[in-house]
Amino acid sequence: MAEAIEGGCRCGRVRYRATVEKLPNVYACHCRDCQTRSGSAFTVNFILSESRLEVTGEPQVYERTTPDGARTSYQRACPVCFTRVYSTNSALPGLVGVRAGTLDRSDELEVVAHIWTKRIMDGIVIPDGVPNWREGAPRDELVAVLSR
Ligand SMILES: [Zn+2]
Ligand SMILES: [Zn+2]
Repeated sequence: MAEAIEGGCRCGRVRYRATVEKLPNVYACHCRDCQTRSGSAFTVNFILSESRLEVTGEPQVYERTTPDGARTSYQRACPVCFTRVYSTNSALPGLVGVRAGTLDRSDELEVVAHIWTKRIMDGIVIPDGVPNWREGAPRDELVAVLSR
């Protein structure tokens, strides 16, 4: 049964809403970019089709192209409180990666996969049986795990 999920930034200016079949599964990324961007050990994201996401509050966009020029990511953040809310990537057209901690129901989410574990911080333990990859996961494999 379809339901609406909602979330937004810390100050409330940027808000989003999406209709989903069930609460999306989440993956953690331990890559250096994610660590730097979040100022934390890893990021947690869920993926939605871009057409499902309705956004208000005019997030600001930060563009970053990889050194080889192969892909550009577009990070959307609140211009007031600087919370990073979601991003798109030229390599994944039509999809958005939403920062899972911005969801109003973030406490109900489950991390079902970990990528870039070769950069994992000591002390963070991946539970037995949770799929993980030392570097980026092949897109189809990650999507399959997330859609379980
Ligand atoms: Zn804000
Ligand atoms: Zn990452």
